[in-house]
Amino acid sequence: MALDDKQTTSERQTATRMCVGCRQHDRRDALARVVREPDGGSVVVDLRRRLPGRGASVHPNLKCVEAAVRRGGLTRALGASAGVETLIESLRAQYEARVAGLLLAARRAGHLVIGTDAVADAIGARSVHLLAIAEDARGRKAELLALAEAANIAAVVWGERAQLGKFFGRAEVAIMGVRDEGMAEALRDATDSIASLDGMNRFAEDA
Ligand SMILES: [Zn+2]
Repeated sequence: MALDDKQTTSERQTATRMCVGCRQHDRRDALARVVREPDGGSVVVDLRRRLPGRGASVHPNLKCVEAAVRRGGLTRALGASAGVETLIESLRAQYEARVAGLLLAARRAGHLVIGTDAVADAIGARSVHLLAIAEDARGRKAELLALAEAANIAAVVWGERAQLGKFFGRAEVAIMGVRDEGMAEALRDATDSIASLDGMNRFAEDA
C-alpha cells in the first residue's frame, strides 16, 4: 500500500498485471484486484487496491471471472477461491458504487451538466466528453444521442431517472454530460465493466 501511494500517476498508468482468468497482461487499471482475506478462507474484491493481503488481478468481465474460478487460476494465485456468481455480484456492486462516486465527484467539481436542455447546449458548445443517460430515459433521448453522435461524443447508459434525481436533489434526472475528460474516461471504463460483467452490451449506441 505504501508503495502504491508513492507511485506517480504515470507509473500507475503504465503498471501492468496478469489476469488470472485469460492469463494476458494488461494495464493495472483495466483489471480488478481481488484479495484473500487474512483469515484465509474468503476472496474479496478490492477495486481501490487498498486492502492488505495476497492479491490477484482479473479482467472485470464474465468470461475472465469464470475462467479464473473454473480453471483454478484464482486458487493457484491466492490459495483460496470464490463462487463465480459471488465474485460477479461483488465486482458489479463495486463498479456501480464507482460510477455513483464519479458522478457525484464530477458534480462537486462542477464538471457535470444536468438535464436535457443544459446537455443539448453543452453538446452544441462541444464542452462535454461523455453523455450519461438513465436506463429509463425517454423524451429527447434519441435526439440527444443523434446530436452526441454527430459531435463524436460517447454515451453510456446507467441508473434510473428517480435514482439519479435523488443523487442531485431533483425529482428526476434523465441525462447528464461530463465535462472533464479524465472523469469521462473513468466513467466509461466503469460502465463498460458493468456491461462486461453482465455479459451484455449496455452501451447507448445500441439502445
Ligand atoms: Zn482476462
